[in-house]
Amino acid sequence: FTPAELSAIRADFPLLTRTVRDGKPLVYLDSAATSQKPDPVLDTEQDFYLHRNAAVHRGAHHVAEEATDAFEGARAHIAQFVGADTDELIWTSGATTAINIVAYGIQNATLGRGGAAAQRFAIQPGDTIVVTETEHHANLIPWQELAHRTGATLHWISVDDNGRLRTEELATVVTERTKILAFTHASNVTGAITDVAAFVARAREVGALTVLDACQSVPHLPVNFHELGVDFAAFSGHKMLGPTGVGMLYGRRELLEALPPVLFGGSMVEVVTMTDTTFMPPPQRFEAGTQPVAQAVALGAAAQYLHEIGMDRVYAHEQELARQLLTVSEVPGVTVIGPTDTHNRLAVVSFTVDGVHAHDVGQILDDAGIAVRVGHHCAQPLHRRFGIASTSRASASIYTTTDEITTFVESLATVQAFFGVSTH
Ligand code: PMP
Repeated sequence: FTPAELSAIRADFPLLTRTVRDGKPLVYLDSAATSQKPDPVLDTEQDFYLHRNAAVHRGAHHVAEEATDAFEGARAHIAQFVGADTDELIWTSGATTAINIVAYGIQNATLGRGGAAAQRFAIQPGDTIVVTETEHHANLIPWQELAHRTGATLHWISVDDNGRLRTEELATVVTERTKILAFTHASNVTGAITDVAAFVARAREVGALTVLDACQSVPHLPVNFHELGVDFAAFSGHKMLGPTGVGMLYGRRELLEALPPVLFGGSMVEVVTMTDTTFMPPPQRFEAGTQPVAQAVALGAAAQYLHEIGMDRVYAHEQELARQLLTVSEVPGVTVIGPTDTHNRLAVVSFTVDGVHAHDVGQILDDAGIAVRVGHHCAQPLHRRFGIASTSRASASIYTTTDEITTFVESLATVQAFFGVSTH
């Protein structure tokens, strides 16, 4: 972005103008946890409540029709944005729910629900489910649980010392017994982007289903699920400039048609008797109960906002920020967990400071107005792999400036000086 373009973008985000800790400008470097929201998203959500609020799909009145149009229009916008057909996208409360819907749907198929068509998903004892060592707990624990409940075994692709997935392990870890290959598109800890094509190719060779955690990719790079060729994918609204409480599950149409639903109630049924029920086709059959309608409509606005700027340009901007963030690896005593090259990565950098606990790093940075995340970032196994319990993580987004990153990198010296561990 030109400086003028970046200023215009920042002017759309009201929260970025606030100060913290006695008047210090906020340097928000926690966008991998949740992004800030631009005016068009905030306005769309409020406009919905002010002018269009009604129950969707049910009401036979004018406002309900407008609400339904806004809700379904948002689904269509997002479908275009992520390269999916409109009826291949299911509203959920977030990525965690989306991944659990797939895991529980497979469990229901294994229990014999969903008829003959669902049997393609059934898991036998001795089958394997493969994940990666870099997964967020949201794309690990649902598969651990499914393995426990079906007698399947969980295996994983490991990471190398640079924090990159050892893609070559696909040839041996993924076998004819593998039913599911669940993996992240980009790590929320290391920022490393996965070679999705290699994962999809191997899964196809053995007939395994692919489940992509696209939480960190959809907000930061051009993503097209049809082109990636994955079977299922999950992402969250709040990380892509949208509201909390809404996310989406993508599934290839023929798979969604065969997968048994997991949540039951209103809005997903055709005929209900006292003993049995037939379900609507997807996506509605996975959308039991009242959906987060205002949030969904606002998420449509977030996708529009990103689309208008252009995801190629967003990625290019964040590549520059990544390059600059990685200069922390040159600070003596600072160790970056994950790749330190700018190739195939996001502007997400997790690091340790020798002699200083991550929580203390976070606190000293916070005193300077700099917001980072500290802890295990919901990826305990990855931290264990590197022999550490916690890291500090700085992560950027569309609105982050190079000046902010300079402030952050310079402040690390203050952290070291405060704790008397400076190696300068
Ligand atoms: N996967 C990744 C890679 C994430 O970064 C996150 C959010 N931290 C999730 C899954 C879970 O998303 P949510 O909490 O919005 O369901």
